[in-house]
Formats: sequence, structure tokens, C-alpha cells
Amino acid sequence: MAKVLHMKDICIGCGACAAVCPKYWEMKGDGKSHLKGGKNAGGENFELVVADAECNSEAAASCPVSCIKVSK
Ligand code: SF4
Repeated sequence: MAKVLHMKDICIGCGACAAVCPKYWEMKGDGKSHLKGGKNAGGENFELVVADAECNSEAAASCPVSCIKVSK
């Protein structure tokens, strides 16, 4: 299992996560990315538990402001 966390308040909307991991990430009209299926975890934090991190690891590595965390 892996937990993916998006700290949306820090997101600058660069689109890198959606480019490398479109299965889980998409850009939204608010100019920020959206973690598909993510649940609100307080404030502007969104969490998703997945069986395997898959491309979320690449998304986290590609984020210039480190607002994606993947914990296993
Ligand atoms: S890579 Fe980071 S800053 Fe860029 S859109 Fe995704 S979450 Fe936001």
C-alpha cells in the first residue's frame, strides 16, 4: 500500500505531475493539479491510498515545489 498526499496550497500549477502520471493527476480550472480520487485530508491537503505507488513516485520527483508526498 502507498499513501499519496497533495498539499494543494503549495502547488504552482506547473503541470509536471499530470504530464508524467496522467492516470492519477490532471490539471483543473483553478490552475492547480488534482489528485484523481483524492479525499480531503484537512485544509487544502488531499490523500489517496493506492495498492502501489506506480507513477505517483515520478510525479513526486517531478514536482518543483515538493507538494506531492508518497509514503509506503
Ligand atoms: S508538479 Fe507539483 S506544482 Fe506542478 S502541478 Fe503537480 S503538484 Fe502542482
